[in-house]
Amino acid sequence: MTARILNGNAIRDQIYGELDLEIAALRAQGIRPGLAAILAGENPASQIYVRNKITACEKLGLASWMLTPPAAISTRELIALIEDLNSRDDVDGILVQLPLPEHVDAKRALESVSPPKDVDGLHPSNLGRLVAGRPGLIPCTPAGVMEILRRSGIAVEGAHAVVVGRSEIVGKPMALLLLQANATVTICHSKTRDLPAVVRSADLVVAAMGRAAMVQPGWIRPGATVIDVGTTRVTDPAEAARIFAAYPERLEKFREKGWAIVGDVHPTAAEIAGAITPVPGGVGPLTIAMLMSNTVKAARLRRGARTPAAAAKS
Ligand code: NAP
Repeated sequence: MTARILNGNAIRDQIYGELDLEIAALRAQGIRPGLAAILAGENPASQIYVRNKITACEKLGLASWMLTPPAAISTRELIALIEDLNSRDDVDGILVQLPLPEHVDAKRALESVSPPKDVDGLHPSNLGRLVAGRPGLIPCTPAGVMEILRRSGIAVEGAHAVVVGRSEIVGKPMALLLLQANATVTICHSKTRDLPAVVRSADLVVAAMGRAAMVQPGWIRPGATVIDVGTTRVTDPAEAARIFAAYPERLEKFREKGWAIVGDVHPTAAEIAGAITPVPGGVGPLTIAMLMSNTVKAARLRRGARTPAAAAKS
């Protein structure tokens, strides 16, 4: 069996098409949603992520600001910066790029973001609303996974969903969203006993560990849906040769570039699964799309605007 490939780029484009209509409706009411991103320090991966988010804003016609305080910024200074953005009427979304420099108290910083502007959905108030099943801003990556499932027609209700990973940003909100969609949810982590057996019992697996190609094809129940959130940069040629043994083109690409982005799921799991997200091109594109969606939603709610999405809800 060869799995149906769940194409994240196509789903992202669909979402952008819908957002264009929302943004046009807001513009007609004199509103231009705006996202402010704070990037403290010079982490090269974070610089790329933030740059991609700003580019997405520019493509959609959203206002954006990139604030780049030095790595030496104190928690107090960072909070002052966030509070300034909280008070600005033209800023609808505030994004604090993680990881923050080690000496900064990240929890305090994230808690200082005004909840209606918390487009990453990481404020305890938004996480609490998620637990309570009340509307709020939802963390982007798990929200993106739900879009992939919904738009691909994959039944979640009644399914046994196994989420591997329990981070605040992916695993925990993912499990809550699946539960809200009436799945029976098991959450696994580094202390789970016999992980392969638990994963094998799943109709739907969401792997979010950050362990390159760890989930083997033998862990997957034939026909199960596999959502691979993991992204690990592999640079070791021996590891790449093991992972891409059955994929000479990918190995060739690795040799040209010297690195490859690999998911948590071994690529050969596609021979067993019923549907699977590729890495790259699966969950990744949805994360930024949902950040854009959250920014537009935050603008609509905070400014009391009328849009197609608001009409659909009323
Ligand atoms: P994280 O904070 O490091 O959490 C990893 C989770 O995986 C933890 O709960 C950990 O368990 C669990 N885990 C680690 N090793 C394990 C093992 N051997 N067996 C079972 N569980 C294990 O990572 P994260 O921020 O959630 O991100 C997870 C992955 O998703 C990373 O590769 C990240 O790059 C990727 N990601 C991708 C996107 C995207 O847009 N595609 C967005 C966000 C994250 P413990 O809690 O017991 O330590």
